[in-house]
Amino acid sequence: MQSNLYAVYGASGYGREVMPLARQQLAQAGVAPDRLVFVDDAPGPAQINGQRLLTYAQFLAEPAAARHAVLAIASGGVREKLAQRCTQDGVHAWGVSAANVVRMDAVALGEGVILSPFVTLTSNIRIGRHFHGNIYSYVAHDCVIGDFVTFAPGVHCNGNIVVEDHAYIGTGAVIKQGLPGQPLVIGRGAVVGMGAVVTKSVAPGATVVGNPARPVVCA
Ligand code: UDP
Repeated sequence: MQSNLYAVYGASGYGREVMPLARQQLAQAGVAPDRLVFVDDAPGPAQINGQRLLTYAQFLAEPAAARHAVLAIASGGVREKLAQRCTQDGVHAWGVSAANVVRMDAVALGEGVILSPFVTLTSNIRIGRHFHGNIYSYVAHDCVIGDFVTFAPGVHCNGNIVVEDHAYIGTGAVIKQGLPGQPLVIGRGAVVGMGAVVTKSVAPGATVVGNPARPVVCA
């Protein structure tokens, strides 16, 4: 009988960080290590860090009972495009979490979410599809995070914050907590620069930097 095939889609920086987590997760589930591969659309070596590298076409051609892919590419736009492609081809979205992730009460995760080591999700949190929580990030109580949102390492997302779809939060950013029923909102597609201290809501599509974070005005 054919077994399932699993892919880390994206074999660059973040993909190589996600692969060991995927390997560990599958080992715990009793899946043979050779059923896990990298997939990337750019040409590369036959293997990366001991795992085979396939093109997407090769991944689809490989005999398998079912195919699963975790999208380990930092760009939310690319993830959305690849998620659509995978759905069309019958490839299942796959979520990968580090073993030491802390997850408290009533945390709802969408499909395809990646939680890197030392991520903490406290209580009463909703997170959408294909979210990336990079190392040492946290999401505190009563936050709602959209689809294809990316947290770089060390993001401090405090309580009662809404982060809309496709927002990108840079390394070490701190977002001030909102109030119950009056959340601080990071708008759709907004970018928060590394180290920014966000004290008020950010408009959709805006880029903010600094402390306190202010919009970058293009000349
Ligand atoms: N990539 C891909 N298909 C796409 C877009 C990107 O396979 O449609 C791959 C790309 O070849 C690269 C990786 O995704 O290997 C993205 O790596 P990058 O260094 O840009 O960022 P990372 O997400 O690893 O931080």
